Amino acid sequence: MSAPMEISLQNTTDRDPSEQNGDVSEPAVPSPILTEDKVLVSVEVCLKPSSTARIEDVRSAVNRMLEKRSLSYVDGPIPVPPDDSFIVENVQRICICDTDEWVENHDILLFWQVKPVVHVFQLSEEGPCEEFSGDGQLSTFNEWILPAKEFDGMWDSLIYESGLKQRLLRYAASALLFTEKGVDPFLVSWNRIILLHGPPGTGKTSLCKALAQKLSIRFSSRYPQCQLVEVNAHSLFSKWFSESGKLVAKLFQKIQEMVEEENNLVFILIDEVESLAAARKAALSGSEPSDSIRVVNALLTQMDKLKSSPNVIILTTSNITAAIDIAFVDRADIKAYVGPPTLQARYEILRSCLKELLRTGILSNSQEGEHLTLPNYAGLKEKLSAPLIQDSQTPLDLCKQLLEAAEACEGLSGRSLRKLPFLAHAALASPYSCDPSKFLSTMVDTAKRERSEL
Ligand code: ADP
Repeated sequence: MSAPMEISLQNTTDRDPSEQNGDVSEPAVPSPILTEDKVLVSVEVCLKPSSTARIEDVRSAVNRMLEKRSLSYVDGPIPVPPDDSFIVENVQRICICDTDEWVENHDILLFWQVKPVVHVFQLSEEGPCEEFSGDGQLSTFNEWILPAKEFDGMWDSLIYESGLKQRLLRYAASALLFTEKGVDPFLVSWNRIILLHGPPGTGKTSLCKALAQKLSIRFSSRYPQCQLVEVNAHSLFSKWFSESGKLVAKLFQKIQEMVEEENNLVFILIDEVESLAAARKAALSGSEPSDSIRVVNALLTQMDKLKSSPNVIILTTSNITAAIDIAFVDRADIKAYVGPPTLQARYEILRSCLKELLRTGILSNSQEGEHLTLPNYAGLKEKLSAPLIQDSQTPLDLCKQLLEAAEACEGLSGRSLRKLPFLAHAALASPYSCDPSKFLSTMVDTAKRERSEL
C-alpha cells in the first residue's frame, strides 16, 4: 500500500485540476495560473433563501454584470448592483475568493487580467438530522445537507499559514476529478481519504466541515446534491453499545444508499480517529470487549468498500498523531499536520475578533470621529517599517498593541484565541463601550494568565 502524502506547506507546484485534461472552461477550484493570459478567480454567488431562480440564469446575469464592471479583484464581497432588479431580487451576496495567493505576490488583480468562474448556490436551512442508537443514549451520526447555513463563513474564519486551505481544496478537487474522469486506480493510485492531525483546538474538525461546504459549492454543477455525515467515533465505542458492529453496518448501509445516487456528493467526517487505535489496542490487551476490534475492522472494511464510489470523500481528524491506527494512516491519501497558529495567524485571528467587536459596538468605533481600520499583518509590517507615513484611521500604537497581544498568545490554540476577547471583556472594570486600547491591554494580561494555566 502506498504511503500517505504529507502536505508540505512550501514549494508545492500544485496545478489546477482542470489542466489535467486541458479543459479550462469551468474548473471547480481555480488556481492562480494564467490561462490565455488571464487569472482564473472564483466568484461565489449566494442566493436568497426565498429565491426560486434557475442557477443557470443567475450565473449568466452575474457573468454579464462582471463583464460590465471595471472591478479590481480582491477577496471579499462585492456590492450587488442596485440597478439590476433580477440580481437584487435573487442574490444575497457575491464574493470574490481565492485571489490571496496571487495578490500576495502580484499586488492587485484588475478586471482585464481575470477570468471569473461563477459558482451559484443556495444555503440549506434544514439543520442537522441526528441519528440515535436504539436506546437513545448518544447520537451515532449527524447528517447535513450542504451547503448548510450553519457552516456559512467558517472557511473564511479559519486562518492558517498561507496556502494550507488552498492546497487541501485542490487536493480534494483533484481526487474528485481523477475519479470522475475514470483514471485507472491500478495505474495511478489515490484514495479520497483526508487525515488532519495535530493538537486539540487547532480547527481540524471545523476545517473538514468548511472544506466539505466549499467543495459542495464548487462542484454543484456536477453534483447538485451534497451531504455531510458526521460520525461520532466515540459513540461507536461507548460502553453503552454492545452492538456497535451492527451500528457501523447500519450507518454504512445508509451511506451506501446516499452514494448510489450518482448526483449526490457525500462527505463522511470521522472525528478523533485515534479512538479506533485505542479500542483495538485495549481489545488486544484484554481490557476491552472484543466487540471493539470488530467495530474497527468493520469500519475499515466499509471504508474500503466505499473506495469504488466516485462521489465520496472521507474526512478524518486526530488529536494524537502517534496513536492513529496504522491501518488507518495507510488508507489516507492526504495527511496534513494542523499546528497551533503562527504569529501571523494569531494576529489575523485577533484582528478579526476586534473587527467584530467594533462592528457590534462592544468596542467604541470612532477615533475623533474617524472610522477605525486595522491593517492586516502584511500591512502592519509595512506601517512599522515606514512609521512616518501614517493616517489617523489606523493609529500605530493600536496596531502595535494588537501585535503585542498576538505575541503574548504564543502556544494558545485557535480555539483559545477565539475565546480570549470574551474573557478579556469579562475582566474589564467598565465593560460598556470600551476603548480599544484599554481593551487590548486587558487582553494581553488575559493571554498571559491563560498561558500560565496551560
Ligand atoms: P479541533 O478539531 O482541532 O479540536 P475545532 O475545529 O473544534 O478544533 O476548533 C474549535 C474552534 O476554534 C473553531 O470553530 C474556531 O472558532 C477556532 N479555531 C481553531 N483554530 C483556528 C484557526 N486556525 N483560525 C481560526 N479559528 C480557529
